[in-house]
Amino acid sequence: MKTARVSVVRRMIPVLRTIRAWIATAVPNRGLPGAVAVMGIPAERDSERAEVYHGAGVPLGQRPKVSKNWCNSLRLRLQEHLERNPTMRLCRYNNDRLGLVDGDQIADVTAALNVLPEQIWPLTPGDPLILHLDAVRANVSEIVVGADRIALADASLLSPVANPTKIIGAPVNYQLHIDEALEDGGISSGKKILKIEEAGPFLKACSALVGPSEGVALRFPNRRTDHEVELGVVIGKTADRVPREDALQYIAGYAVALDMTVRGTEDRSVRKSIDSYAVLGPWLVTADEINNPNNLDLEISVNGEIRQKSNTRHLIYDVEHLIEFCSSFYTLHPGDIIMTGTPEGVAPVRDGDAMACTVEKVGTMTVPVRLA
Ligand code: MN
Repeated sequence: MKTARVSVVRRMIPVLRTIRAWIATAVPNRGLPGAVAVMGIPAERDSERAEVYHGAGVPLGQRPKVSKNWCNSLRLRLQEHLERNPTMRLCRYNNDRLGLVDGDQIADVTAALNVLPEQIWPLTPGDPLILHLDAVRANVSEIVVGADRIALADASLLSPVANPTKIIGAPVNYQLHIDEALEDGGISSGKKILKIEEAGPFLKACSALVGPSEGVALRFPNRRTDHEVELGVVIGKTADRVPREDALQYIAGYAVALDMTVRGTEDRSVRKSIDSYAVLGPWLVTADEINNPNNLDLEISVNGEIRQKSNTRHLIYDVEHLIEFCSSFYTLHPGDIIMTGTPEGVAPVRDGDAMACTVEKVGTMTVPVRLA
């Protein structure tokens, strides 16, 4: 009897370790207690072992039968959960690797891209990763166990969207930014400031798009060049004249956006389309992680000094209204980026500055400034 118990414990220890490691990687950013909680199983005991038993459906106070079936049932339940709730932070890094961000690490899930179809000319409109995001996410869940990992700090982060068909900007979409533009001729350059409903959305060239590690390269260092920190919305499916009530369904995810701007008399589409003047990062947070995009703190500091600090609840056109507005003019394709507008506090940057841009529930990206 005693021998049998010892043998069960001996067999359990490595199994529990394996399952714990598996849960930690399979449910990114949540870990073991989070995994149990999201499965709807309350953690009634402190001990991790009790939670693991619960996770595998073993009643409290009873010992699980340590078997292959037991492990498989836990794994299947977690997989089902992930398929229903595929929350993920996906990044593109180094030489176009696809990464799953997990705490301060990145799991290399590049192999998940093998579900993307071979490209045939002419290309289907839209970014291929975002176009096939559901399939890629399912694949990521499959391969994340055992994926190679690197420290997030060692990765060069690129724009999580590689090939949008449009980068759309929302002009003057925070009242306090309108107020500062009315007071500071350096922002408006003497032009009449039209309201967003009068001006309409503007477009930034896709060739301006970079990720945080690439930095912003000042092309006109003698002209005022401002940071504009914004919530970036990435469209997930084709959207043509979408009413605002349905708009959130069309979002693939969110990222931090920088709408870099040279001040002057030229059209916005020129001044905001310079190479590297559209920054998106540090990763894509899938839409299911953010219930309400219209209540997120956002801020930017330059060399440690806070310049802009606000909340998306102050958007004049909120996210749903922007999707309705933009899609009333043109079809939005998967991967299209809407930069939702900037709050007050826009200010110039110089060669050597470091911008730290944060959106609540999304993350922080650090973007260096240099001369082009
Ligand atoms: Mn802007």
